[in-house]
Amino acid sequence: MRAVLQAISEELARLKAEGEQVVPVSEEALAGLRALVAARAEAAGGAFPADAANRPAGSAASSPRGAFAAPSASSPAPAVRKEFAPPAAAPTSAPVIKLAPAAPASGALPPPPRVTLPEGDKAARYASLKDQATHHPVCLANVRPGKKAVLGVGSLDAKIFFVGEAPGAEEEVQGEPFVGPAGQLLTKMIGAMGLKREQVYIGNIMCWRPQMPTPPGAEQIGNRPPTPEEMAFCLPFLRASIEIVQPDLLIALGGTAAQGLLGDKFTTLGAARSRWHDFAGKPLMVTYHPSYLLRNGSNKSKRMVWEDLLQVMEKAGLPISEKQRGYFL
Ligand code: URA
Repeated sequence: MRAVLQAISEELARLKAEGEQVVPVSEEALAGLRALVAARAEAAGGAFPADAANRPAGSAASSPRGAFAAPSASSPAPAVRKEFAPPAAAPTSAPVIKLAPAAPASGALPPPPRVTLPEGDKAARYASLKDQATHHPVCLANVRPGKKAVLGVGSLDAKIFFVGEAPGAEEEVQGEPFVGPAGQLLTKMIGAMGLKREQVYIGNIMCWRPQMPTPPGAEQIGNRPPTPEEMAFCLPFLRASIEIVQPDLLIALGGTAAQGLLGDKFTTLGAARSRWHDFAGKPLMVTYHPSYLLRNGSNKSKRMVWEDLLQVMEKAGLPISEKQRGYFL
């Protein structure tokens, strides 16, 4: 049963990474899913059946071959909110699993903030920005007690600027992006490029961990993608980070970050990846999120990401050895 759920979860995550928003499901499959979810909810005390369906699956860690291998710690599968709804267009009466994000916990958001940067050097401007982002009342209203809003981390002189999705459980505790399993893999990917994590800048499209319904006092289980409104609210902080760092290029990690940056120009990750776009006057490469590689650690998947990163290395003028060119072939 666990294997079945994991396989479904991985397939939904893969489709989401490809940019799919809706998946048709047969009545038979739906009935099977409902039975599985009910059984798991009962086993878990019956309190939160929807959460039981979204509970993180164990990682499908691959054997550590090649230049970057998945960290051994088990990684949560991205939470995918499953809504059962009639199909949008009706060639079939099959219900659908909607991969759309949940509504924000705090309700409607005000218009995106106006970020003003002071005069001064990069460090002073960044310190002001970090203070504005992490102490903004809306950001603070969206983090749970004891948790932190997160801006970014890395070199203010970085040539390469990574843009991820949103802080997760570890990130909102530490106040730093990409410190969990996906972050460990990202650090390895950066290492395979011949760089140290401290030499690049790592930010997110979101400053806070998108909230999911959680009982008072309990820890949130799983993650959900941010809504377009949440991303639009946080975008000025990311734009200001780019303005301060002035990187040579940007890399969007995953479909959500790419959608947040490209808006309507983004269709699917498959169509957007591996070519150059523009954001804020900077070349933007789109590739898969490291958490996708944690779930799909095949050499084929790693090679796809690696080919995107090779393009990035070329554009950034980084040296590339023959060995590096051959990773994951
Ligand atoms: N995934 C992201 O996209 N961002 C983080 O900060 C952590 C995990």
